[in-house]
Amino acid sequence: MECPYCHSLQTQVTNSRPTLKQTQIWRRRNCLNCLEVFTTQEAVDLSHLVVIKKSGAAEVFNRGKLYSGIYGATIGSKTSDREKVVEKITREVERDILFLKRKRIMSMEIADIVLKKLRKSHSATFLRFLAYCKGIENESQMKRELEKYVFGKES
Ligand SMILES: [Zn+2]
Repeated sequence: MECPYCHSLQTQVTNSRPTLKQTQIWRRRNCLNCLEVFTTQEAVDLSHLVVIKKSGAAEVFNRGKLYSGIYGATIGSKTSDREKVVEKITREVERDILFLKRKRIMSMEIADIVLKKLRKSHSATFLRFLAYCKGIENESQMKRELEKYVFGKES
């Protein structure tokens, strides 16, 4: 297991507990390199989650949609292992959603989680995903959205 802070592979399990439904094992780990503590889990199951779309329509969380939304935004990226990168982001987003412990979530909230991930390390993909999920059509719209995300003016 890789440390999310320093990417060291030398981590140690300090605590392990099953989740409510016994479907996931959560592990508390600490990194032997940077000494950060973090939690991991074996599998993310979001089948209970209902996503509310912009139109107000509700649907069960669909991992494939999340994955392909992110994948679509990586078009043109120079990364050779696109699938791997997208899979990793998808997994991180799922984990973040799980941590919210919600039964319902707005699709835009999911998009915001994705954007926060992309903002850190995948700038071209971030811009494409932003345009995609906000339906951005022109430069001034893009500027407004960028101010929110890049310059931290989130309301
Ligand atoms: Zn570390």
